[in-house]
Amino acid sequence: MSRKSLFLKQNKLGEEIKKLCPLFLKGSVVKISRLCGKKYCRCFTEGKKHVTWCLSVKFKGKSKIFSFPQDKLEDAKKWSKNYQKLKSLINKLTFVNIQILRQKTKGGHHKNGKFNRS
Ligand SMILES: [Zn+2]
Repeated sequence: MSRKSLFLKQNKLGEEIKKLCPLFLKGSVVKISRLCGKKYCRCFTEGKKHVTWCLSVKFKGKSKIFSFPQDKLEDAKKWSKNYQKLKSLINKLTFVNIQILRQKTKGGHHKNGKFNRS
């Protein structure tokens, strides 16, 4: 890929990343079914468990579950999706940046001969 198209791509990916910020969150929305413990509740009498949507977030390798008001479910889903998109954009941008980094500088920054090729 040419230098110019790499920079264009770098710019485009950077813009897409900016668009997703800061509305993202690392984690996934999970459904939790539970019994409330009341003997007269239908979760106990009919086996219809209470369903709550929660966020499962991994911090330093440990998963944590966070609850949130259920009317925020759409936001939670969207923000978690944005994080997935960001992750893939970051991967793509990293690949572009590696190519940019590996390109030799024309005209040389090392004309004084101190550059060591090893
Ligand atoms: Zn119940």
